[in-house]
Amino acid sequence: MDFNLSGISTPQSTTEQHVKILILGSGPAGLSAALYAARGEMNPVVLTGMEFGGQAALTFTIENYPGFPEGVGGQQLGELFQKQAEHFGAKVEFDTATEVDLSQRPFRVKTYNTTYLADALIIATGATPIHLEIPGETELTGRGVSYCATCDGWFFKEKDVVVVGGGDSALEEGLFLTRYANSVTIVHRRDALRAGAVLQKRAQENPKIKFIWNTVVTEAVGQDAMKAVRLKNLVTGETADQTTNGLFIFIGHRPNTELFAGQVDLDERGYVKTDFLMHTSVPGVFVAGEAGDPNHRQVVTSAGMGAAAAMQAIKFVEEHEN
Ligand code: NAP
Repeated sequence: MDFNLSGISTPQSTTEQHVKILILGSGPAGLSAALYAARGEMNPVVLTGMEFGGQAALTFTIENYPGFPEGVGGQQLGELFQKQAEHFGAKVEFDTATEVDLSQRPFRVKTYNTTYLADALIIATGATPIHLEIPGETELTGRGVSYCATCDGWFFKEKDVVVVGGGDSALEEGLFLTRYANSVTIVHRRDALRAGAVLQKRAQENPKIKFIWNTVVTEAVGQDAMKAVRLKNLVTGETADQTTNGLFIFIGHRPNTELFAGQVDLDERGYVKTDFLMHTSVPGVFVAGEAGDPNHRQVVTSAGMGAAAAMQAIKFVEEHEN
């Protein structure tokens, strides 16, 4: 069965290519999987997808990836991952899967120009933070707007920041930001939090955190740097600007797994169901990184899952080779 991501018919693929291990995604999970699969003599091919390096590449400095005591740029780290994988024979293609058929082996993965026939497949397509889609958000991303407190919190030392969301992520990340920021204002669209009781209590007891209820952010204001957020009270309709240095948005993540719906088991939120061996419901298809892990969202955990998925994929290919 073919599944078309967009529902729009894709161009006819022109060439067929057989690969032992095909990896979808070029974030830390995909490129670590490529390194391990290459060293396992599997000549893996990585399809980068639309965003080379994944979410990590959008991070200005990564300070919690072991081995880089001074920190490392997210994009630079992605390039180092790629270089290391290619050094051992991985091929990185700037291409995107548009259709997959996992109903039989070899698995068929179509891109715009090529149909890959893969003995094993590693899904490392990551997740995408949900955006507010307000004016200024895209322009100020990396200049005040962020989707990752762990990555960017340090840059807001003794600054004032606004957090959007009322779930566990907003409160957990808001609490994390109090290590650095002078003040953390959590703006929530309702007057009740979705987050669990323990996090709620901790946030409400933290003197650096204050809440603005029944309110949404309608604009991120600033040219080269964030100056303010425009707020709208949903009960009174009043609008006001609040001065801030940062806007952290935690309104959920969406795993990039639409392509696999109906072919591998996904949980109710769309994450690929897996076990500690990175198996999916389809033998020969493995998952690594945030496509299968809503909990950690760290470069080091995704890289570890990538390595594990590749080791299992190598074992699978070797067992089925004859
Ligand atoms: P979430 O639970 O879906 O919460 C998203 C929050 O964003 C909700 O409060 C929602 O408001 C708000 N929101 C959604 N769209 C919005 C919009 N367009 N404008 C303004 N606000 C918007 O997402 P999450 O906090 O990332 O958590 C995801 C899952 O991971 C949850 O199951 C959570 O329990 C889990 N998690 C657990 C932990 C932990 O246990 N420590 C930490 C992080 C995440 P409403 O409340 O009005 O819908």
